[in-house]
Amino acid sequence: MTDGTPVRASYDVIVIGGGHAGTEAAGAAARMGARTLLLTHDPATIGEMSCNPAIGGLGKGHLVREIDALDGVMARAIDRAGIQFRMLNASKGPAVRGPRAQADRALYRQAVQALLAQQPGLEIGADAVEDVLLDGEGKTCGVLTASGRRIAAAAVVVTTGTFLRGLIHCGEVKIPAGRARGQRSGGGPLDLPASAAVASLDALEPPSSGLAATLARFGFRLGRLKTGTPPRLDGRTIDWGSLEEQRGDDPPLPFSYATSEITVPQISCFLTSTTTATHALIRANLHRAPMYSGQIDSTGPRYCPSIEDKVVRFGQRDRHQIFLEPEGLDDNTVYPNGISTSLPRDVQIEVLKTIPGLERAVMLRPGYAIEYDYVDPRELWPTLQTRRIPGLFLAGQINGTTGYEEAAAQGIIAGINAALRAGRSAAAADADAGFVLDRADAYTGVMIDDLVTQGAPEPYRMFTSRAEYRLKLRTDNADQRLTPLGLAVGCVGNDRRMMYQDKMVALDSARSLARSLAMSPSALARLGIAVNQDGVVRSAADLLAYPGMSVKRLSSVWPALAQITASVAEQLEIDALYDGYLSRQQADIDAYRRDEALVLPADLDYGAIGGLSGEIRQKLTAQRPSTLGQAARIAGVTPAALVALLKHVRRRARAA
Ligand code: FAD
Repeated sequence: MTDGTPVRASYDVIVIGGGHAGTEAAGAAARMGARTLLLTHDPATIGEMSCNPAIGGLGKGHLVREIDALDGVMARAIDRAGIQFRMLNASKGPAVRGPRAQADRALYRQAVQALLAQQPGLEIGADAVEDVLLDGEGKTCGVLTASGRRIAAAAVVVTTGTFLRGLIHCGEVKIPAGRARGQRSGGGPLDLPASAAVASLDALEPPSSGLAATLARFGFRLGRLKTGTPPRLDGRTIDWGSLEEQRGDDPPLPFSYATSEITVPQISCFLTSTTTATHALIRANLHRAPMYSGQIDSTGPRYCPSIEDKVVRFGQRDRHQIFLEPEGLDDNTVYPNGISTSLPRDVQIEVLKTIPGLERAVMLRPGYAIEYDYVDPRELWPTLQTRRIPGLFLAGQINGTTGYEEAAAQGIIAGINAALRAGRSAAAADADAGFVLDRADAYTGVMIDDLVTQGAPEPYRMFTSRAEYRLKLRTDNADQRLTPLGLAVGCVGNDRRMMYQDKMVALDSARSLARSLAMSPSALARLGIAVNQDGVVRSAADLLAYPGMSVKRLSSVWPALAQITASVAEQLEIDALYDGYLSRQQADIDAYRRDEALVLPADLDYGAIGGLSGEIRQKLTAQRPSTLGQAARIAGVTPAALVALLKHVRRRARAA
């Protein structure tokens, strides 16, 4: 890793952007042996969390575990930086539990930067990219930077987040910017006219206009989305004593398969809520809110609405919950989760006075909204390579998603495929097909398939409900699902390989042991294990599928089971619990994969297929699904159209 000027004139892969997508893309490409350059405005902001200082949550936690299974950095970084870990949905089944951790922002940045610094083959350069260069055949061949350098590369991954023609809104004030620089990542005072409502934003990062123009010139369908962030508060001015405390899990459970325990000190969060006075004040000032004054007309995240949006949309509610989350161990900044806003600064100050515990709170900087360009993700193949420009990949918020985890999961897939394209990895022979996870492999596969087939008419975030096969796609088994695939493609390093192999040896021998120990129902009953007295001999593995059964309990029957370690025992118990359901789900997965295996030729002339309506023909021509399964998931494509499509493709194959 370097920290300034790129040392070469040519790389295999250039990644633009040091956010969550960019760091995973660059790390994955370098792990695969590609000579990789990560170019970003300021390397000191690598690992910056633009908004909420937290990683994981429902659905998102699954993505983090999948990134970890492919040897990415996010899970290891949050394990070094997490100051409150909580398993969401802990009372529900393991399939829908969501690990979440609140981060110390500075520690998180440091952890990401330290993990990247250890990565051989990865250089980091400080420069803004202004243009992507194409060769005579229209393929990507490098980038042009703001400092005037032309740097060659076989593949380029763009991960510019909210920076493309970014426009910040705070009340009536609009400022072109990529985002506000993190409070403590070196930003100086913001040089704005004294009258500007955002004068206390401590620094802004520049928007990316050159690249936005490049993507428009290439003919990509661009759209405009928006997101927002709450004000930040001075924790020393909050009346903590009056508020409800929320503690984390004890002991905190790590995200990464590679972390044995969390050693960072843990803190509590506190709960408060808005009041009827808050809502009245917001209603009285709606005409000054950019979302309602007509200043913003792009779509924001439905599941993460601003407080003014909540007050309007849920008019019957008299309170909305707010989590007060400290941003770090030695940082007095507090993030009030739940009141994202772009109301003017003076209104934000008044709003705080109506919230219990915050009556005297000092606002360190106001909340704001940001509008930005994104590329319609239907412009992408499932490898995240663009359909228009070979060698150009897009990942992260630029594809219409919202959230660090969604960005990072795309980043790792784009980085792997960029390295395959550059042809440096051991698996280069597969470069044409690329590395694609399907909907039965991973939440990452579900997300990318949703994006490339449905587009992103609103900011896309992950939920467990988006996955059809969620009994299989659990956080506990992400390594068993994905690490072998990562090893095959070459993105998993040696340490992770050895750790995974050791775990699988222990798990396999524990499984064999549990299958080998068996007893009759009467013998089990004598030892206090109640089962049907049907004469059927049951093994320890069979018994683990019973509700409330555990390896520990069965150790009283078979003492040999006591030698199984706690983590292997837990995996055995979860696997046993789901085994029956999974064999039933397998038939659905087989049918899904049959449709996915039917590849639709890229040059298919949908106009020549009889029996398709004009509307369906138009949709298929515009979206060019890669497989029959993908065609089926395009809204409006009917079963009859699929049959016509299938017949046509089969006829064409026979004729060839
Ligand atoms: P980013 O993390 O934004 O990183 C982009 C990187 O690209 C930066 O390093 C930047 O310096 C670099 N870059 C940009 N242009 C260039 C260029 N031309 N040359 C070189 N480098 C360049 N997510 C949620 O889940 N919930 C929320 O409530 C939420 N609120 C948000 C509020 C705000 C104000 C913002 C800005 C973001 C919010 N997000 C939220 C989104 C979350 O921050 C992003 O989804 C996530 O950070 C996207 O990751 P990324 O890697 O795609 O981009």
